[in-house]
Amino acid sequence: MTNPKGPMEALNSAMAPPHADISCEILVIGGGPAGSTIATLLAERGRNVVLLEKATHPRFHIGESLLPLNLPLFEQLGVREEIERIGMVKFGVEFVSPWHGDPVTLDFANAWDKAFPYAYQVRRSDFDHILFKNAVAKGAVAHEGCKVTGIEFHTGAGATVTAVDEAQITRQFRTQFVVDASGRDTFLANHFGIKKRDKKHNSAAIFGHFSGATRLAGKAEGHISIFWFDHGWFWFIPLSDGATSIGAVCWPYYMKSRKTDPAQFFLDTIALCPALVERLKDAQLISPVTATGNYSYTASRTAGQNYLLLGDAFAFIDPVFSSGVFLAMNSAFIGADTVAACLDTPQQAARALKAFDATMRRGPKIFSWFIYRVTTPTLRDLFLRPSNFFRLEEAMLSLLAGDIFRGTPLGLRLLVFKAVYYFNNLIHLKQSLTAWKKRKRAIRDLETVAITGQEI
Ligand SMILES: Cc1cc2nc3c(=O)[nH]c(=O)nc-3n(C[C@H](O)[C@H](O)[C@H](O)COP(=O)(O)OP(=O)(O)OC[C@H]3O[C@@H](n4cnc5c(N)ncnc54)[C@H](O)[C@@H]3O)c2cc1C
Repeated sequence: MTNPKGPMEALNSAMAPPHADISCEILVIGGGPAGSTIATLLAERGRNVVLLEKATHPRFHIGESLLPLNLPLFEQLGVREEIERIGMVKFGVEFVSPWHGDPVTLDFANAWDKAFPYAYQVRRSDFDHILFKNAVAKGAVAHEGCKVTGIEFHTGAGATVTAVDEAQITRQFRTQFVVDASGRDTFLANHFGIKKRDKKHNSAAIFGHFSGATRLAGKAEGHISIFWFDHGWFWFIPLSDGATSIGAVCWPYYMKSRKTDPAQFFLDTIALCPALVERLKDAQLISPVTATGNYSYTASRTAGQNYLLLGDAFAFIDPVFSSGVFLAMNSAFIGADTVAACLDTPQQAARALKAFDATMRRGPKIFSWFIYRVTTPTLRDLFLRPSNFFRLEEAMLSLLAGDIFRGTPLGLRLLVFKAVYYFNNLIHLKQSLTAWKKRKRAIRDLETVAITGQEI
């Protein structure tokens, strides 16, 4: 879509009159990374795409650390240079544990495939805005401040989607295909009642931005740091404007112990991690503190005859490996091919949807094995004493880079890594059993926590 007034004016001029029926081929719910990406890809192919976003960009979103395998996706979308301008280059990861000696840093340059040596840390408000504007520039008709509130599927004939804008005007969109990219709002999973919490994992997060945090030196300045502490772990994400994003991901029993306001609770939580306190000794909190409740879930379906679920609208896993944005955007790339196959060759739709389903489940499955164990002493030991025996470190770095969809031969190495993990558990049986019991108690606690994201 070209418009001499610029993309935002283009959005407004594209708004239909109140109560009008609007027809499109594909309607995308949500203009985050997944929604904007699929809208771009389908519009580029000449599809008639409508993209509805309830907020107005630029808007705050958490999830600021990207993976190296995001970069080829930016290239294909044509936004790599713009992302580079707003991003802090992230060459690797630092692990800091109070139960071990010196911190360990790992560089993506040492991964199995050396072609993806870095990623970016980004302010999501800027990043998501770039992706959204790109969708408009490529021809998607986008409406911001427009919240999808209802949907009715018509057997074999698409759906009618109802949305309300900020002036409380209701519009109905007739579409052949619906893409749900509504993130943790999980619009379709709620509609169908198919959202299932992850029984094997449960955690919650509290986070804010600081100025004046002490960063690593030189090339490691943009590394993400992970600090373990008694009740979970912290992220430390340096942003290019000098701010640093800090967040604590904790078991719910700890979050429920809060007796003070969120900001004080956050500062008290940081005080429990001396290594992080040291890095923040000259720092100041410069943003409101936000918390997100119990947040691991999967929808039991990824798609149906005339709809798909992308990114967080399908599944959300703990963010310890910064995988969310990559999985969301990757799902949009696979999703674009799937939608095209469903619309152009309906006789091949079943096969395309099956392949889509397998890809959607692959990422969460691979990362979840590590997520379930990342707070155990045995996995911490393996991360903090890395060894490249049998190229295990290279394989782990490729996993951390998001290199799990291109056929890089990690399978055998990850299997060996898991065998080493189980073997070490046996050697330190007492310690492992204690950690396992602690984790079991923490997970049981989830029964009392609501499934939806919540602010505290
Ligand atoms: C505490 C925390 C830390 C995280 N850290 C990281 C990290 O470091 N790195 C990383 O990669 N990921 C991280 N994530 C995960 C990451 O934020 C998500 O995986 C990612 O944003 C998913 O993208 P998405 O497009 O699927 O959903 P979103 O980015 O959530 O986008 C969904 C969009 O849909 C809109 N929407 C919702 N409902 C409607 C509706 N009814 N109508 C219209 N629009 C609607 C929303 O406003 C939003 O803009 C983190 C998540 C949390 C909770």
